[in-house]
Amino acid sequence: MSVLKIHKGDQVMVISGKESGKAGKVLRVDREKHRVVIERLNMIKRHTRPNPKKNPQGGVIEREAAIDVSNVMLVCPACGQSTRVGYRLTGDGGKVRVCRRASCGKDIDKA
Ligand SMILES: [Zn+2]
Repeated sequence: MSVLKIHKGDQVMVISGKESGKAGKVLRVDREKHRVVIERLNMIKRHTRPNPKKNPQGGVIEREAAIDVSNVMLVCPACGQSTRVGYRLTGDGGKVRVCRRASCGKDIDKA
């Protein structure tokens, strides 16, 4: 199984499709399907029946649809630019993601 470089809570930039160029926060990651749901991006309308608990009126609900992870890039919290992700091994056997921009190179995760 490949490891996804995008994690829940990350800031990402969409690089293709109708939301290309927009950025947002990752709400959910689907590891099996390699898809991510980004806050207020790729909204779709869903027609729903009335549901007494969630939505008594029914009608049209807008919600985020998942985007393939290959269509997004991580936004580096240090330099604020979209970047490819590298890894740096930490002393205790763990690893942290790092920004691959030559001008930055900072850790994305806390070591
Ligand atoms: Zn950076």
